[in-house]
Amino acid sequence: MKVELENLFSIDETSQDQVINVYNRHGIAIGAPELRKRNLKTKFNPIFTLNEDVTYEQVTALYESLEREFGIVSIGERFYFEFSDLEYERAPLFTLNSTGNSPEMFLEDKGTLFSLSTHCKCCRLMDKEQLSPIVIDTTQMKDRHLVHVNGYWVASEELVSLMKREKLEGYELLEVIHQGPKEGKQPAYQIIPIQMLPECSKDRVKLYFATEQPPCSCGLNGVINGPDIYHHEDLENLKGDVFYSAECSHDGRYLYRKTLFSKRFRETIIKYGISREVRGEKDANFGPKDWLFDPVLIK
Ligand SMILES: [Zn+2]
Repeated sequence: MKVELENLFSIDETSQDQVINVYNRHGIAIGAPELRKRNLKTKFNPIFTLNEDVTYEQVTALYESLEREFGIVSIGERFYFEFSDLEYERAPLFTLNSTGNSPEMFLEDKGTLFSLSTHCKCCRLMDKEQLSPIVIDTTQMKDRHLVHVNGYWVASEELVSLMKREKLEGYELLEVIHQGPKEGKQPAYQIIPIQMLPECSKDRVKLYFATEQPPCSCGLNGVINGPDIYHHEDLENLKGDVFYSAECSHDGRYLYRKTLFSKRFRETIIKYGISREVRGEKDANFGPKDWLFDPVLIK
């Protein structure tokens, strides 16, 4: 697994070379970055790999130099996790990051009932417990097989039939409540895993945005989790195809449990042409309806 960090900021075209020098001085080799011109400023977005040679501490020092020497303060940061072919082949489980490179994979909640309670007094993250079926406008699903609603996955009838036919297991279905126009409404089902995975290994990479506030003491807000890592023996006797993770994720306001899927689930989706095989966000196959599964790492 490789962690890449992309920076994005604007500079005067004339200071380009000097900025590249600052990176090099901090031990971060960057090639000629892709430059996109806009007015007088030029967009600058170098991507580099984080490892023993380039640590996150170095990056923080680099940002201080960029600010001091060039007055660059708003640096966009984006992390990419890249997996080897072997990691895809060995993974028994996958995280589903997306069901399409498109905002249409997200559907707005139209009034699902939750009970809410404060999880962290510092950052105000809330726990939520679902009290009713999910309420959405199912006409917006159109021909999508799986959409994301506030941390939950909602499947089309066709996907549910496929899952049954292929004997994928480990979930319950809860039909959603349709709220919206009658024309074009369709049955849709929340996939609710019935098993929870054992805890992740403590070796999981944890990152944070150097340009933002340090992470909250609750260990959730402000932390960017790397791929899930599990001990081999913890997953050995696992049966089923859909699971909740033991660790909580959040969307900035509410906590939720992430759903993980089996290797066979991913293979079924690809075999039946619901999605092309996608390996990473930068894969040319990652189109508006392709599913992005990341493998879990095994140690
Ligand atoms: Zn907190």
